[in-house]
Amino acid sequence: MEQECVVEEKKKVQSVEDLPGVGPATIDKLSNGGFTDLLSISVATPGELIGVADISEATAKKVIAIARANMEMNFESGEEIMIKRNNVIKISTGSSNMDALFAGGIETGAITECYGQYGSGKSQIAHVMAVQCQLPREKGGADGVAVFIDTENTFRPERIIQIANAVGLDSDEVLKNIKVARALTSDHQMLLAEKVEDLIKKQGLNVRIIIVDSLTAHFRAEFIGRGTLAERQQKLNKHMHVLMRLADKYNLAIYVTNQVMSKPDMFFGDPTEAIGGHIVAHNSTFRVYLRRGKKNTRVAKMVDSPNLPESEAAFSITENGLKDV
Ligand code: ADP
Ligand code: MG
Repeated sequence: MEQECVVEEKKKVQSVEDLPGVGPATIDKLSNGGFTDLLSISVATPGELIGVADISEATAKKVIAIARANMEMNFESGEEIMIKRNNVIKISTGSSNMDALFAGGIETGAITECYGQYGSGKSQIAHVMAVQCQLPREKGGADGVAVFIDTENTFRPERIIQIANAVGLDSDEVLKNIKVARALTSDHQMLLAEKVEDLIKKQGLNVRIIIVDSLTAHFRAEFIGRGTLAERQQKLNKHMHVLMRLADKYNLAIYVTNQVMSKPDMFFGDPTEAIGGHIVAHNSTFRVYLRRGKKNTRVAKMVDSPNLPESEAAFSITENGLKDV
């Protein structure tokens, strides 16, 4: 009986791959159409699935029903969420002005995005955080390992050594505890993000921050023209969902950098806007705009946050890391 079948499947269907009667070719088509998880399938219409995966209406309906039956619609109590919030670690940036901007530091369980022009300090903060996250908890760190997904070939171990020495850590140890991967394309970058789970589960590494520098550069370079914009956004969305899931599941911080494009038609205010549009904006928990200030300083502005005010912090980039000005 149909009903029994659904109940029986309930125990084992955890991802699209587990759906009965769905082969690898269909999974690929579904995935390319943006149906990468049970949630997206459970809220789809049969017509949408037929459209992207070329399956029969009966199969589409069955797959949706099974996805729905297997979706865990967990309502968490406010108390449970408070307990989760209490586990959040705020990783110090080394600058008390910047820490104040974040009400303590860069949070685990969230995506923090810094966007700004070339030279504004996005990659410098990335290097600083790769070191700071390794400090002991009482010194503002997270006793953790950093993962650095480098898309622009700007990771510099020499810089890590400088910063590590300045905070009194053994630079050899610090370098060992940064797992760097050079992402060659956007697809490669997406895959690397998924593979971080292996470092945690298989290698048992205490990953406390994943840095993606830059989040958007490959996507921007590869998807040019209007026709491909939707596909780009869909992929960026998927990528950020993977990152957010890791942040949530393993209580780790995500630090991503983003470029700006100039808006020459804008006459008032700052003529810059972050790449990635609404997708990146909505998926980032904290959004910080970085710009150069007077006398070679930098100004960071909290642009969007679920619980923090819009404020600014001034700092400078020094050989030793970030310093207040
Ligand atoms: P982006 O936002 O493009 O990633 P970066 O983070 O690479 O920008 O910032 C580059 C700037 O950082 C340089 O122009 C310089 O002002 C500063 N910087 C880089 N290395 C050092 C260092 N060792 N000591 C002091 N400042 C540095
Ligand atoms: Mg950079």
